Amino acid sequence: MNQASNILTLPTEPRDFGFYLDGGWIASGDREVFERASPAHGVPVTRIPKCTGDDLNAAVSSARAAFEDRRWSGLSGAERAAVLLRAAALIRERSEEIAYYETLENGKPISQSRGEVEGAASIYEYAAGAARSLHGDTFNNLGDKMLGLVTREPIGVVGLITPWNFPFFILAERVPFILASGCTIVAKPSEVTSATTLLMAEILTDAGLPAGAFNVVTGSGSEIGQALIEHNDVDMVSFTGSTAVGRRLLQAATGNFKRLGLELGGKNPQIVFADANLEDAADGVVFGICFNAGQCCVSGSRLLVERSVAAEFEALLVKKLSQVRTGDPLDPQTQVGAITTPAQAKTILRHLRGGPEEGARLACGGSVIETDAGQFIEPTLFSDVTPEMALASEEIFGPVLSMQSFGSVGEAVEMANDTEYGLAASIWTKDLDKAVATMRQVQAGRVWVNTTITGGPEMPIGGFKQSGWGRETGAYGVEEYTQVKSVHIELGERVHWVS
Ligand code: NAD
Repeated sequence: MNQASNILTLPTEPRDFGFYLDGGWIASGDREVFERASPAHGVPVTRIPKCTGDDLNAAVSSARAAFEDRRWSGLSGAERAAVLLRAAALIRERSEEIAYYETLENGKPISQSRGEVEGAASIYEYAAGAARSLHGDTFNNLGDKMLGLVTREPIGVVGLITPWNFPFFILAERVPFILASGCTIVAKPSEVTSATTLLMAEILTDAGLPAGAFNVVTGSGSEIGQALIEHNDVDMVSFTGSTAVGRRLLQAATGNFKRLGLELGGKNPQIVFADANLEDAADGVVFGICFNAGQCCVSGSRLLVERSVAAEFEALLVKKLSQVRTGDPLDPQTQVGAITTPAQAKTILRHLRGGPEEGARLACGGSVIETDAGQFIEPTLFSDVTPEMALASEEIFGPVLSMQSFGSVGEAVEMANDTEYGLAASIWTKDLDKAVATMRQVQAGRVWVNTTITGGPEMPIGGFKQSGWGRETGAYGVEEYTQVKSVHIELGERVHWVS
């Protein structure tokens, strides 16, 4: 990285990361390593160890000890908040380094990585406040002889499994809330994007987090991830990833009935009514499918447009999609970077080929962008899509938008809800009554009106239906990692049962 100028260069050799245990780095040693190549440039950028079962056991033991001896869980909210605030400051100090590795491993534009790192710092600041305001309840209405307390206690050791699409930001939507609650963590990042989770471990130690409160094991999902979710000394697993893997978690968690938080996939509707500001809506819809190359759980990939304006809206989209700047993510002007993994590129290409075969009409895009290195796909719009097509029902996780049309509010709602998912939805209209009526009927954990993919840590996130269980961020995001205890305190003289 050439930090003297604004132009970022590729590393001359990959950076070796160990993994993070009990407050310090453990070198790869004789463990196997993954060498991660930049999906945009093809050059190796990081080397990450494949942790063993013994490494995982050591990490869980470390988190367990840090929880049981109360070196973290026994601190006051104010003391925990101080650590989280220092962590936020250190994230800002090291923001260029974090953004650089985020872009190199993930392929997302550097401007976006910088935005996400800044956003993450601000989430740590919010969660510091949540650590101080977390509280239970009292019942002073049980009569003079009884006082009832409802206390919230941290649930214990949390296994945290994260995906590759927002490695640092998704981590920030969970870690400071889990720590704010008093729990300790064993994190398992995606094998292709582990670097910034490891950097965060070092930052938390530097911020004063006690050893063992945040450990990171690296390796594949099927081995180390699976072992983490099956581990009987882990009290809860927070998983963010595909619905398919989420389903496996349900089975794996039965050993000790661990609690599960699941943030899964989505096929999110963008509902555009004829009375919307169509220029604004088109801009939002293009952003909603191109942001992070469409590799967002909340990408607005299912466009539903009121029939009377469908042709006009399609023309607007085609114009805007062709203006999106796709290319080298290290260029600060780039808006859409590389597809993160070859497997993901293959899935997207399958849909690009399958769309016309199913009868959809390719309105624009639809091709791989030819470059010397890396995997880039044109922002794509398919029209004349019908509900039974894969384009309308499967989460493509790429810059591929499918367009259908509707004739009434009722039909729009029916189409929006015609999916196994329920993660997010956007509604575009100038009519507030229509927006609220639609919002009330749409089955989704997050609804945006006249905007999309925005928000802050104040509001909870999570899914309806097969998009998940539980909520992250906001006050809900700390409570999620607590369990509730009811305490009855009898006062005064006891009336004896045995007289
Ligand atoms: P994925 O499910 O393949 O992997 C997610 C994580 O789970 C990775 O760390 C992976 O190593 C691990 N994993 C894989 N198999 C495992 C197993 N058997 N046991 C335990 N862990 C295992 O998902 P991905 O491809 O990394 O990410 C894309 C998916 O994530 C999409 O479906 C997307 O919608 C979803 N996602 C959801 C949200 C949300 O907040 N709802 C956010 C981001 C991504």
